[in-house]
Amino acid sequence: MAGVVINARDISERKEAARLKDDMVSVVSHELRTPLTSLRGFAELLLARELPPEKQRQFLTIIHDETVRLAHLINDFLDLQRMQAGHQTYHLACTDLGALLRDTVAVFTSEAGPDVIRVETADPLPPVHADGERLRQVLANLLSNAIKFSPHGGAVTVGARLDGAQVLVWVADQGVGIPPEALPKLFSKFFRVEHHETRHIGGTGLGLALVKEIIEAHHGSVWVESVLGKGSTFFFTVPVAATAVPPLRAHGV
Ligand code: ADP
Repeated sequence: MAGVVINARDISERKEAARLKDDMVSVVSHELRTPLTSLRGFAELLLARELPPEKQRQFLTIIHDETVRLAHLINDFLDLQRMQAGHQTYHLACTDLGALLRDTVAVFTSEAGPDVIRVETADPLPPVHADGERLRQVLANLLSNAIKFSPHGGAVTVGARLDGAQVLVWVADQGVGIPPEALPKLFSKFFRVEHHETRHIGGTGLGLALVKEIIEAHHGSVWVESVLGKGSTFFFTVPVAATAVPPLRAHGV
């Protein structure tokens, strides 16, 4: 009986590996080849023709943006491979989550416009036990999704509050929302919702898989609540840092 169970698991693991390979081939062929084709095309145009300065600038801007997108894809992909192979080192330390939230939001506010993002935190938040750089990556992914999947605007709200021994953080938007049947697959590598309204929005389907890896490595949880056409709220938890015990000092020493 045990043999049957192991075999069944073996087969489903092999199927999963084959599915991931297929997904990877389709992402590599589309997400890497499309920008490469445009990089090559615009570079060749610039080399072959004497173009007016404004045209040159326009084409160089496209080349620059595509290069940034490619670097982003490659970095996310390598980060995720490293994490899933268990090779990621987390520098866990007592981290000021409130400051981290405000810093990350400030970066996005300068890009997305000053009125787009609101912060609601119950101050002061206790410090959390976390790798600050990786938490920043989690917030950046959630914020960038909230903004890009709100093509008609709407407020994005970032909040945090103490919830037992955890801090609960949320990023809420009033964007396109997520259909209920997509919710169970949302955090899987390469998964993207097929929807006519979001077809033109770029992405790789790696961001939320990274978010899940990072939060679970912190012994936290991540989940989403969403209503199609109304918006989504992503939640995650991170543990509060253990209260620092002051070192014992003998009197008179
Ligand atoms: P990417 O954004 O690169 O496509 P993610 O892994 O970050 O990849 O997200 C996976 C998919 O989940 C997205 O393609 C989108 O369909 C859906 N999604 C994520 N965040 C949101 C959001 N805030 N609102 C609506 N859909 C979202």
